[in-house]
Amino acid sequence: MPLKKLETPIFDTVAFVGIGLIGASMALAIRRAGLAKTLKATSRRQETLDTALSLNIVDEASTDMGRIVKDADLVMICVPVGACGKVAETIAPHLKPGAIISDVGSVKASVVKDMGKHLPDNVAFVPGHPIAGTENSGPESGFPGLFNGRWCILTPTDKTPQSAVDSMRLLWRAIGSNVECMSPEHHDRVLAITSHLPHLIAYSIVGTAADLGTDIQEEVIQYSASGFRDFTRIAASDPVMWRDVFLTNRDAVLDVLQRYTEDLTALQRAIRRGEGDTLEACFTRTRSIRRSIIDAKQDETWRPSEQRDN
Ligand code: NAP
Repeated sequence: MPLKKLETPIFDTVAFVGIGLIGASMALAIRRAGLAKTLKATSRRQETLDTALSLNIVDEASTDMGRIVKDADLVMICVPVGACGKVAETIAPHLKPGAIISDVGSVKASVVKDMGKHLPDNVAFVPGHPIAGTENSGPESGFPGLFNGRWCILTPTDKTPQSAVDSMRLLWRAIGSNVECMSPEHHDRVLAITSHLPHLIAYSIVGTAADLGTDIQEEVIQYSASGFRDFTRIAASDPVMWRDVFLTNRDAVLDVLQRYTEDLTALQRAIRRGEGDTLEACFTRTRSIRRSIIDAKQDETWRPSEQRDN
């Protein structure tokens, strides 16, 4: 559904530090909804910026971070979570007083700590995480409909002014997201089970299949539609991004991993003992969870054909 254009943009200039899948999707959505007059981007590699410029994702781009952020009313940090602290340190002396600094990192407590210590008191820091994504990377993967109907979680700190939270809430809502606020620690516990553990399981299953003998491997690909295929899509997600997620949300992930391995062992025992009732009871309960996700409209699967026009 096309988003309504606002009469006046919320921001004069929005600068993206990192313009990959998430940064580019946000920039395209902001442009489409008319929420900013000027969009700028900075990235490590000139090649990434050339792609962003050639796809008309931003108006101006430079590898000089200071030059790109200095006039921005909103600076969106869209780099892997492990790089957020260093980026904050680099941009801190160049930020415009009164600017809002936000991010999209998949882990929040570590980002709040790493970035918070570098940002000056005269800017507003609104940490955030859109629960939307694909397994693709780079600006060429971005599309403006990525956030439609998805949740964006904001984790303001004690120092974050309410007006800055309100502006970010308005922005995310205008590009199609539902918005919720919670503490960074709570966010990290919830995401450990809903996102981080499933990715770890996918990486491990696909890794196990890759280690099988070559005769089996061919059949794994041939018959992948029987369940394995969905794991391979998740396990194709960006290795650097996910390395950083597991290193920075270590405690919450280890906690749910412990619970999960105990539950898996219980299922293993039920299979060994032929306890059909135990298996059926477990699978019936999980089926109802699937139904609630469909009812909550969080089930739309991303398809490549929708990439540029939704
Ligand atoms: P991406 O497509 O790989 O883009 C990453 C961007 O960050 C690129 O501009 C890249 O620059 C830059 N970058 C990478 N490493 C850097 C470093 N060490 N220092 C400075 N810049 C660096 O990644 P993405 O999927 O957009 O993810 C960005 C953020 O969004 C991550 O924090 C991730 O946790 C979060 N997130 C991702 C998803 C998802 O599904 N992908 C969903 C929600 C949130 P160059 O290209 O110039 O090297």
